[in-house]
Amino acid sequence: MKRLNKYISILTLTTSVLAFAACKPVSAPEGVGVGGAEPIDVATSEANDVTSAKAAHQAVITLDTHVDIPLTYMTPEMDPGTDTDAQVDLAKMEVGGLDAAFFIVYTPQTNILGANILEADIKYSEARAIAETRFAAIDKLTKTYPDRIELAKTADDVRRIHKSGKRAALIGMENAFPLGDSIDDVPKWAERGVRYMGITHMGHNQFGDSSNPKTQWGETENLYGGLSSLGKDLVVALNKAGIMVDVSHAAKSTMMQATALSSVPVIASHSGVMGVADSLRNLDDEQLRALADNGGVAQMVALGSYVKALSPAQEKFKADVRAQMGFEADTQIFKSDPEVISQYFKALEAMYDIDAKATVADYADHIDHAVKIAGIDHVGIASDFDGGGGITGWSDASETLNITKELVARGYSEADIEKIWGGNLLRVLQAVQKGADKAR
Ligand SMILES: [Zn+2]
Repeated sequence: MKRLNKYISILTLTTSVLAFAACKPVSAPEGVGVGGAEPIDVATSEANDVTSAKAAHQAVITLDTHVDIPLTYMTPEMDPGTDTDAQVDLAKMEVGGLDAAFFIVYTPQTNILGANILEADIKYSEARAIAETRFAAIDKLTKTYPDRIELAKTADDVRRIHKSGKRAALIGMENAFPLGDSIDDVPKWAERGVRYMGITHMGHNQFGDSSNPKTQWGETENLYGGLSSLGKDLVVALNKAGIMVDVSHAAKSTMMQATALSSVPVIASHSGVMGVADSLRNLDDEQLRALADNGGVAQMVALGSYVKALSPAQEKFKADVRAQMGFEADTQIFKSDPEVISQYFKALEAMYDIDAKATVADYADHIDHAVKIAGIDHVGIASDFDGGGGITGWSDASETLNITKELVARGYSEADIEKIWGGNLLRVLQAVQKGADKAR
């Protein structure tokens, strides 16, 4: 409760424009006016921005398309209805004005290359069990706290739930690995409420090439040169089921092929842009244009090292921490207990003593670039909280207003902000479901 009180007091403090203006140093930017009225004008315009940001934040639906959950989610160990150490729980969503989120059914991929059918079957059924656990937890969340959060399966659901004053929970599947060697389970997951599905994760899988091949498994850049033939079937099956195709984590070849093949718009559920930070996980301008042409949307990810590339010294520090903890790669960490995961991220914090962590301003640079290249109708927001996401100023869901403040400060109108904060994504969801209905 202590933690919650802290958030409430932060909110109370920022609720008063006067209080905000009073605690901000009243000074003109360098080189602007000497004496006279300018300093007060700056404070007034900042205060006006805060007022506009709060109004916009209140008016629009704020939708975060990527929130991870631990395997212990909805057990006494990690109950998001209570005060938790997680970056997203119900109280933090309420305090931060985060209206809706995709909660993620994530499954670590295991190495199936060279595995025989029996071995692969065992790996797939282990993955299926993990997916079932995470799905059951999200289901339990909405059933345990029906007065605070509700499962949304359509864009209209999200709007209706938002109007009722509750949070909306949507379900995304990080990667299709647990489907195994067929696409037969796609309708089952659609029925359960999964509304986007990623093709692959870190490492190539049975459906296609990843942006990050697992070199430790001997993977090279291309396994299929994009989608596998099962991957092509997957895109068609997702279209038919009304599930959005998610191209985050996919190799550029996979992403471009999936976008061309899909009969409806596709999304990148949590990716940054290469135009700002060079990372294999980010989208280049050609990919942004392809998403725009397809009518889709790129949800900018707030994961520090994708927002602002790590320096060589930081990379080395990270590798040392991983080696000390006995992990070969980041993805291995997510198979661990929440305590180990949290130890890992805590240990990584010291990396930002070497070079500063990405800020909300760095993050907004990705939004600006994506808007410039793809257009205002094709950009959105994703935190990747509890999966490595979080930057200075948006370190958990309680700080969500800071994103809107930055957008207002950069001159985005309320109509723009409505699109970026969820309107674009909901438009795509609606188009994908309409496409599926038509095909039926
Ligand atoms: Zn991810």
